Amino acid sequence: MLRMTVDSTALRRDVALANRILERSGLSNAFGHASARIPGTQTFLLPTRRSPGLAEAATLLVVDFDGAVVAGDGTPNSELWIHARLYASRSDLGGVVHAHPEACVCLTGIGEPHRVVHNQGAPFHGRVAHYDDIGLIRTRTLGDRVAQTLSSGAIATMMRGHGITTACADVRTATVAAVFLEESASLQLRMLHAAGGDGARIRAYTQDEARLLDDQLGPAIVSRAWEYYAGLVA
Ligand SMILES: [Zn+2]
Repeated sequence: MLRMTVDSTALRRDVALANRILERSGLSNAFGHASARIPGTQTFLLPTRRSPGLAEAATLLVVDFDGAVVAGDGTPNSELWIHARLYASRSDLGGVVHAHPEACVCLTGIGEPHRVVHNQGAPFHGRVAHYDDIGLIRTRTLGDRVAQTLSSGAIATMMRGHGITTACADVRTATVAAVFLEESASLQLRMLHAAGGDGARIRAYTQDEARLLDDQLGPAIVSRAWEYYAGLVA
């Protein structure tokens, strides 16, 4: 029982930090949210309906895969369905991040698919899905539709005019992935602009090149990145 309590405390701390990182890193302002599956259960930790920059470990809600709040006080974020249905659809997921980062939204707005243009973008090669319907994900049906885009090994989905969702083995990785994806999209936009809008001039990484850098979302890199970002908001 003591072990469970310690683990739960650590997970709550990670989820609160993940949310604050989203805001501090400029991926979201008043909106956006990060969550973590509570291991061995059909539930996850999600902040109440506030800016992710205001998330606190003690006030996180416990929500189940049907969208019901089973513990905690307050109203959950209205897009809880992204998290609920992703965890329901993929048992390998331990962390989900949803944010509204500007560069990623810009890519969706010009119909430009994500391309790998720097080292930290490499793990996304062939693993970025696209969700083209506009609007917020406020129903179970829409949550299922977002989850379907992430059903085939994708680790992120670009949501047109809206933002991104990353889905990984744990909340730290999902958070670092969101930061890296926005960094990647920002660089891609700058390269596109510098090339006069000619995407063919961008020297995007091939699949073989990207594979050499697959460790950029591995434990060692995530640990180092998390240490830095968590330090900014602790
Ligand atoms: Zn959203």
